[in-house]
Amino acid sequence: MINRRPTKKLHIGGVAVGGDAPIVVQSMANTDTRNVAATLRQIGALADVGCEIIRLAVPDAVAAAALADIVRASPLPVVADIHFDHRLALAALAAGVHGLRLNPGNIRKPEHVRAVVAAARERGVPIRIGVNAGSLPARKDKPHMGPAETAAAMVEACLAQVRLLESLDFDLIKISLKASDVPTTVAAYRRMADLVPYPFHLGITEAGTPGVGAIRSSAGLGILLYLGLGDTVRVSLTGDPREEVRVAYEILKSLGLRERGPTLISCPTCGRTEIDLLGLATAVEQHLGHIKAPIKVAVMGCVVNGPGEARDADVGVAGGAGKGAIFRRGQVVRTVPEAEILPALLREIDAAVRERETGG
Ligand code: SF4
Repeated sequence: MINRRPTKKLHIGGVAVGGDAPIVVQSMANTDTRNVAATLRQIGALADVGCEIIRLAVPDAVAAAALADIVRASPLPVVADIHFDHRLALAALAAGVHGLRLNPGNIRKPEHVRAVVAAARERGVPIRIGVNAGSLPARKDKPHMGPAETAAAMVEACLAQVRLLESLDFDLIKISLKASDVPTTVAAYRRMADLVPYPFHLGITEAGTPGVGAIRSSAGLGILLYLGLGDTVRVSLTGDPREEVRVAYEILKSLGLRERGPTLISCPTCGRTEIDLLGLATAVEQHLGHIKAPIKVAVMGCVVNGPGEARDADVGVAGGAGKGAIFRRGQVVRTVPEAEILPALLREIDAAVRERETGG
């Protein structure tokens, strides 16, 4: 059982973050924000796969101006990601964004931060203080800091910004402390956890391409989430942002923190496997890609671990010599020859989904 750190709840548009709210999955569009149609298309595609908050880069005044149309038509709350120029934050707030992300490393003048905070307070818009190890001012003077020293510098930079916002009577604060390596990221969040009550946005920044990036994110987010330190997550991957959302849900599902869509369990195969398990698992995975119900399906090669796993699942198969025993809710419902395993399994999966949908 994971005990989440108690945090102050806030709202990004209609989505609650922190407190007793479920851990929220977010992503960042990789379209040009100035291209409203392309950005809205991607937001729609991300919403379809379960993204709950979308962050958009705001590199210039044209992008800031485009936000008004995007916010109006977006199915997801929009967070504007601002670097360097506080005027872009003011323009984003005027355009109606539901959240801001500021990097304390690059909006340096307190009076600029003060102006943004005043406008955010007026509109009740939360601000994420998003520290990134790569843009820490301290690192410019000392480029070879180790993980502990970098984590301490990240926390210090973040706390200075937190205290500035608090001194302006602003507490709609979210925090992220991202580094591209897991030990630094974990050390920074752990250190910060005892110091402030604000919700944490988790991420391993610049995690990499989908394969390696998913592994690095799973290691980092897995540790933090297991420690109860996380209220919203973004998996950063080089590629289609829908993959970020899929990986984020897999991480949350594997820790029992969220339910979404089916879970497929399949054995790694070994010398006991007597059916084409890879072909079967691949075909089942493809079928499950179209299903939203949180059902569990087990595809197992033999009678050693197979029946146990297949029984624990909503639907399962345990292979034998050229045949397979099909399970529904722990009971063998039939044993079929190998050629009939896939259609029999898919029929049972569809029946299980119908039952879920009708509450049967
Ligand atoms: Fe091997 Fe059976 Fe385990 Fe699959 S379930 S890895 S076939 S022992």
